[in-house]
Amino acid sequence: RAEEELRRAALVYQTSSEGMAVMNAQGDIITINPAFTRITGYTLDEVKGHNISLLNSGRQGPEFYDGLWHTLDQKGRWQGELWNRRKDGSLYAEALSINTIFNTDGTPHQRVALFSDITQRKTHEELIWNQANYDSLTGLPNRRMFREHLDQSLATARDTEQRLALLFLDLDRFKEINDTHGHDAGDLLLQTAAQRLRSCVRESDMVARLGGDEFTLVITHWHDEHRVEELAQNLIKRLAEPFHIGKETEYLSASVGITLFPQDGGDTETLLKHADQAMYAAKRLGRNRWERFTPAMQEAALMRSRIARDLRTALADGQFWLAYQPIVNLRTGHIHKAEALIRWQHPIHGHISPATFIPIAEEAGTIQDIGRWVFETAAHQVKAWQTSLHPDFQISVNKSPLQFRDTAQRGELWAQRLERMDLSTHSIVLEITEGLLMDASDATREHLHQLHAAGVQVALDDFGTGYSALSYLHEFELDYLKIDQSFVRHLHGASKDLALCKATIVMAHELGMKVVAEGIETEEQRQLLRHAGCDYGQGYLFARPLPAAEFQALALAHNRLADLRHHRLGVSTD
Ligand code: C2E
Ligand code: MG
Ligand code: MG
Repeated sequence: RAEEELRRAALVYQTSSEGMAVMNAQGDIITINPAFTRITGYTLDEVKGHNISLLNSGRQGPEFYDGLWHTLDQKGRWQGELWNRRKDGSLYAEALSINTIFNTDGTPHQRVALFSDITQRKTHEELIWNQANYDSLTGLPNRRMFREHLDQSLATARDTEQRLALLFLDLDRFKEINDTHGHDAGDLLLQTAAQRLRSCVRESDMVARLGGDEFTLVITHWHDEHRVEELAQNLIKRLAEPFHIGKETEYLSASVGITLFPQDGGDTETLLKHADQAMYAAKRLGRNRWERFTPAMQEAALMRSRIARDLRTALADGQFWLAYQPIVNLRTGHIHKAEALIRWQHPIHGHISPATFIPIAEEAGTIQDIGRWVFETAAHQVKAWQTSLHPDFQISVNKSPLQFRDTAQRGELWAQRLERMDLSTHSIVLEITEGLLMDASDATREHLHQLHAAGVQVALDDFGTGYSALSYLHEFELDYLKIDQSFVRHLHGASKDLALCKATIVMAHELGMKVVAEGIETEEQRQLLRHAGCDYGQGYLFARPLPAAEFQALALAHNRLADLRHHRLGVSTD
């Protein structure tokens, strides 16, 4: 029976798929089984008498082996996973267990190693780990790894009283480039941008991609705040260098927010929030720049989020109303047009300016509902005034660029809505800004075209404050040009602004547009603009934006006077 058992043991030893090695107490190999040869490539002759460390790959450090031998000496057995090297030099992962056979006096006699090849599983695990921690496009750490790294770095910085800087970086015009050149070009751009960012920092600093065109940097071991600011400047400079996409050259800029530990926050969440606020400030201050976090940013952000919250209920709660400001015909003095300007009566904070809340409503998405309400309200008002004031009375409403992205507010639908109310499509004028034309997507172009085709007129608001590319003026079908009040404000006989206004008026007329001057506050301004051929004027000189009833009274009186003058003096109103 003993012989039978020995034979069976030998059979197991010979045919096992697990590699086995029998060693002396120090790990010198006495014998191996065929699976050992299959896995490692070494035959018995090649390894007999050699130490098992012959298989070491170098992937584990000396501490690892110290621990292994220590455990073996203490407990007699060790179990774990490690990387070894085959005879052909390639690495493989194995799950290994080592047991000790003891002499009668308790000293180790021999050791038996049993292992199986787990390379596939390991590679797979590594792949999954990489996918979970790295961004596949740029190869940079992703959001998850960044968070882990930031938490760790922060803990270390706290323990060692070191400083740390957290930078948020957002590419400014990426979406535009992605839209015009396609996604492959966009990907290439992001990869190049990632490399450039990486080249600006040291090995020990982290550059991660949070997603989209957002990057973040964790900078440790710096002593002077100016160094961090210099770095931010440098990042912006590197990104400003031309990008080559196929045969074309494109330019990018970036906005960077800086926050420092411990000055600007003590924990991860605070630092993240503040870095984001600083970046947001950089964007709002004109992009292509960096900003350091300040407590005022935190206050402003708090206020914005309160306003955003209150905006959600303001509409249903009836807190909005429309004020109307006359747009006066400068030749005849008649008021047959008005601009509708939204007013918000907040239950606690009182009047909040549209200049404050419209950008927040745009960001929060509430602008869509607000815009629809403005349109509906103005449409009802214009219907009333076409009866009581003038059959061709027109109201202008301001339309946010965001509303052009809402398919529910497509151009033709606006026209249909007016027709259903038995109004001519000329009753409402839409005021848009240059920003819309600058970033105009195909959908926006289509939208504007539909409006024009349906007979809804469009006015270009605040002309002269944006980029004022003259090509927009004939590329898009515009009916009115509104000269911004910043040109009207300092208008006097010899001013350069007068030359600009005159030139604008001539150009607009040549292109078939009427001109409205905004912000007329003095009689002199009115006279100068009228003589320059400006068609319409709007401003405090005539009236401030008024509640509907007051507007109607004013317009009635004004128009009666204009009629009288008109009869007596012909066309002139002087
Ligand atoms: P805007 O469309 O350029 O409107 C003209 C602004 O100039 C109004 O400010 C008006 O009150 C002001 N204004 C008129 N005449 C004078 C003047 O003689 N002197 C001075 N200093 N200012 C004058 P308001 O009502 O505060 O509106 C500010 C901006 O908010 C508007 O500029 C417009 O861009 C936006 N906005 C107003 N209502 C709406 C709306 O219903 N929807 C959207 N999307 N934006 C709106
Ligand atoms: Mg306007
Ligand atoms: Mg304006």
